[in-house]
Amino acid sequence: MSRPTTILDTALDAVGNTPLIRLDRIAEHEGLKCNLLGKVEFTSAGGSVKDRIAKRMVEAAEAEGKLIPGKSVVIEPTSGNTGIGLAMACAIKKMSLEKEAALRGLGAEVVRTPNGVASDAPNSHIGVAHRLEKLIPHGITQILELNVGENLQVSVDEMLYPERLNKEIQLYQEKKRGMMSSVFSAFAFLPLSKAYGSEAEYDVFKKRLLSDKTLTGTEAEKKEFEFLKQWLADPKRAHVEYALVISFNVLELAYPDSALARLRPHRLCRPLAAPAIDPAYLKNPIDVDIVVAGLKFCRRMIATPPYSDAKCVAYDPPASMETDEQLAEFVRAKMEPFYHPISTAAMLPREHGGVVDPNLKVYGTKNLRFADASVIPLMLSAHIQATVYAIAEKCADIIKAAHV
Ligand SMILES: Cc1cc2nc3c(=O)[nH]c(=O)nc-3n(C[C@H](O)[C@H](O)[C@H](O)COP(=O)(O)OP(=O)(O)OC[C@H]3O[C@@H](n4cnc5c(N)ncnc54)[C@H](O)[C@@H]3O)c2cc1C
Repeated sequence: MSRPTTILDTALDAVGNTPLIRLDRIAEHEGLKCNLLGKVEFTSAGGSVKDRIAKRMVEAAEAEGKLIPGKSVVIEPTSGNTGIGLAMACAIKKMSLEKEAALRGLGAEVVRTPNGVASDAPNSHIGVAHRLEKLIPHGITQILELNVGENLQVSVDEMLYPERLNKEIQLYQEKKRGMMSSVFSAFAFLPLSKAYGSEAEYDVFKKRLLSDKTLTGTEAEKKEFEFLKQWLADPKRAHVEYALVISFNVLELAYPDSALARLRPHRLCRPLAAPAIDPAYLKNPIDVDIVVAGLKFCRRMIATPPYSDAKCVAYDPPASMETDEQLAEFVRAKMEPFYHPISTAAMLPREHGGVVDPNLKVYGTKNLRFADASVIPLMLSAHIQATVYAIAEKCADIIKAAHV
């Protein structure tokens, strides 16, 4: 679409329709095979991509009669680009709103709220916005209160000790050798029953897991834990991931990535506040046991031909850590979140904290759907990208079916 060449009536007409610029030199530098384009959103009238949503929201609300020019007050609880976009849209539409200096210049009234208070506190930016919304006639009322963010989950992974990492980086920089000269060459998710050395050991684990009374919480969490217990006790399902890194003359058997080891989901507070995340990794001793069993499996594997013939070295954790207690200590010191966050808009019943329904539609809306990793309600025994693609395909089918 070409840029307008005529005189525009208002700054809102200069929102969107921003240039697309070919970024060939970056694409070449990065070795990209596709076209790399940059969208120059700072050329929008308010200086950011947020102008688009501001314009759309204000015009839609106006069209629906929810915003009355000259009367309505728009309350925006952030002070970023969305605030500036809204200030601009409202200034042009002759409405007032909140924002600091830049916004005052555009005719906004600013109500300061204290930093660092919980987002659901009455004096927080959201609490004050809610109060003003009730006090001021013609304010826009919040329609939906959903559990966005509350069900965040992520798998955990064992990371390198910093000193070991630095050594490997140095080795690579100097000699182009070592762990950094190779990539993960094989991944496998295996059932927990394989991680334990014997059926008897696995049975002891299962008994402990199934009789665990500490796994409580909300109704949804209780259901989730019951489901996880059955899942972890099922010898046919995969639970723990193993990754191989083959380096120069060292076969490093990497770490179990415990896809289901965490039994407490993380917690996020309200989305507009700084997230208060309690990762709760390994708080439950069962989680630690699962990872220790995985590490012991790795050790057994490298002691078994053909790996043993290749003189594999397992040095993280070092062989000097022999007992289960030492390995548990290692696990507690070393586990970190892996790159698979999910479930911030979980597909669950609404009364159990779900955000989208089985058709990916956000509860309480007519046609708003999420199609990304956020809808996956429970950590998978897999890397999640392929599932995200499947969700997108499914969403496309649902939307197409609704229009046929
Ligand atoms: C380093 C790394 C390695 C990974 N390796 C693997 C792997 O090997 N295999 C695997 O299966 N998975 C892997 N994953 C996980 C996988 O990439 C993610 O699970 C997947 O991309 C999630 O897809 P998504 O669409 O939910 O989110 P994303 O892919 O994160 O997409 C979100 C999009 O929203 C955009 N966005 C965010 N905020 C805004 C906003 N306010 N306005 C407009 N746009 C916005 C972002 O720019 C982004 O394009 C890896 C992840 C990382 C970080």
